[in-house]
Amino acid sequence: MRDLQEMETFADSGLAPSILEALSAMNFTKPSPIQAKAIPFLLENSRDLIALAQTGTGKTAAFSLPILHKLDLTRSHVQALILSPTRELALQITKDLMNFGAKMKGLKVVTVYGGARADVQIRALKNGAHIVVATPGRAVDLLTRKVLDVRQISTLVLDEADEMLNMGFKDDLDTILATTPPTRQTLLFSATMLPEIERIAKQYMNDAQQINVGGRNQSADKVEHVYFVAHARDRYEALRRIIDAHPEMYGIIFCRTRRECQEVADKLGSDRYAAEAIHGELEQSQRDYVMSRFRKRRIQFLVATDVAARGIDVNDLTHVINYNLPDQLESYVHRSGRTGRADKSGVSIAIINMREHGVIRRLEHMIGKKFTQQPIPSAKDICARQLLAVAQKILEAPEVERAVMEHVPEVLEQLKDISKETLVAHIVSEKWGHFLEKYKFADDINVDSRGMESRDRRENSGIAFATFQLNVGRQHNFTKQDLFGMINASRELKGSEIGRIELAGGTTTFQLEAARAGAVIGAFRTAKFNGEPVLVTEAAPMAPRFERGGSRGRFGGRGGGRGSRSGYRGGSGGGDRGSRGPRGGGGGFRGGNRRGGGYPTRPGGAPDDL
Ligand code: ADP
Ligand code: MG
Repeated sequence: MRDLQEMETFADSGLAPSILEALSAMNFTKPSPIQAKAIPFLLENSRDLIALAQTGTGKTAAFSLPILHKLDLTRSHVQALILSPTRELALQITKDLMNFGAKMKGLKVVTVYGGARADVQIRALKNGAHIVVATPGRAVDLLTRKVLDVRQISTLVLDEADEMLNMGFKDDLDTILATTPPTRQTLLFSATMLPEIERIAKQYMNDAQQINVGGRNQSADKVEHVYFVAHARDRYEALRRIIDAHPEMYGIIFCRTRRECQEVADKLGSDRYAAEAIHGELEQSQRDYVMSRFRKRRIQFLVATDVAARGIDVNDLTHVINYNLPDQLESYVHRSGRTGRADKSGVSIAIINMREHGVIRRLEHMIGKKFTQQPIPSAKDICARQLLAVAQKILEAPEVERAVMEHVPEVLEQLKDISKETLVAHIVSEKWGHFLEKYKFADDINVDSRGMESRDRRENSGIAFATFQLNVGRQHNFTKQDLFGMINASRELKGSEIGRIELAGGTTTFQLEAARAGAVIGAFRTAKFNGEPVLVTEAAPMAPRFERGGSRGRFGGRGGGRGSRSGYRGGSGGGDRGSRGPRGGGGGFRGGNRRGGGYPTRPGGAPDDL
């Protein structure tokens, strides 16, 4: 990377005096790191720019100030187009532009976004705009209608490009990038470097300078943040499966209270895991003892409260598990910062229930990083991972002792007629049979997948589908392509996992392979259509469809599509379950909805202190 000239103050940036005046009125005294890097570059160059920066780092001013500086107010055509993923963000950018340009007489900024009347926006555009701030869908719409003219822009900004891609605006971005003049300067801002962004850079950008800045409140860079959704009563079982699927784990399991710590540690102990609790009720000598065993890796897991974990100085943790998220969200940063240290990568895991999706979003905002949702490992996954770990151990093992080696020829002779496969299978079942046994009858405990499978198993097709509904439909001009756009943009789901899709007036119902149902919440978490969030809820199964060519008989006279379709539209039969939280009942799991051997979600007890 070429060296960049950085500016110390706004005053020595060379920005127009009217802009400097506005900045000081806004109390912007010192440029943020991204501003210090991007502003001088943009003032001096017409080269493209890719800036990787988290939210809250001051990106808006980083691109807005140079744009305002270069604007020719005596000319009335659109000189800059700024694309942003949501209407809220677009409006915020416009507000910032108007503030930064408060002293620029005659400055015209127009905001256009979906979900609002186009005619008002068209009138505003006809009135003239130097800068247009737009969501991609509406921009394409207005370009097609030839009311937005971007043929003469000198700057195109893709703000939060990763979000725009996540929200399925990929095609729209392609259209816009292909429509704007190749002479434009393109500025791309993103929190993460997705492969798709690399593609855009290759295809549409020229010799782009890349800058990278760390964020505010950012947790360690090498930490990956993952969450699993389980019913509250399955929290412990989820923990066990997650642990079992990662035989190499060495980490801390965080709990909220001493009591919860002790309970989780006791349970793990009786399930034969090398886990010990560490919290404020223990004597100092006991804590030291536990810690020394943990350091020597005699213990695989420490089960700790935030307070007790404060003094733990162990590096090399592979994982941190939030058995329950902390009450103080800031604690999450400290918790997750215990892994990913000293050049090692690490994973911070949170086990949440359906009601805690909002907390994940707040955490994402706070740490400026995305979480990925993963399905709770199935019995099959776990067994496979365990066995592969054994294989890996064999590969990495030091030489086998001579005393053992001496006997090998004899044994080989005796087993000479057995295939390698059979031999391995025997050893595996001898040594790991208990694992297979433990999970033999294990259910899938992913939220939303249990029960659905049998209910929705489709005749003859062999694939079980779950059914979901979106709160957008034909009347919103929502199309099947839009749905695929959302699915494909999500990292969780693939278009190939979708079954039938039925568009109705205000809703869209679609089938998804039941085995993938657990990922649906995550996949639609940031989904937006025309700037509005798209909500996904579980719906009643679709009625079988009559097919041409004599398949009628196959479905044995069950009602056709129409009649039963009204069933989920009205939300009967569990159709609106998802929106209320799992299992309808509303009564909450926290307050002791513990069934058969369940584990309390949030055991009472005071927070820990040492
Ligand atoms: P991002 O787009 O990177 O998420 P914003 O541009 O929205 O961040 O800036 C985040 C906040 O910081 C805003 O409230 C903005 O007004 C403020 N801010 C940005 N740059 C400065 C600065 N140089 N001095 C003071 N406040 C700033
Ligand atoms: Mg921003």
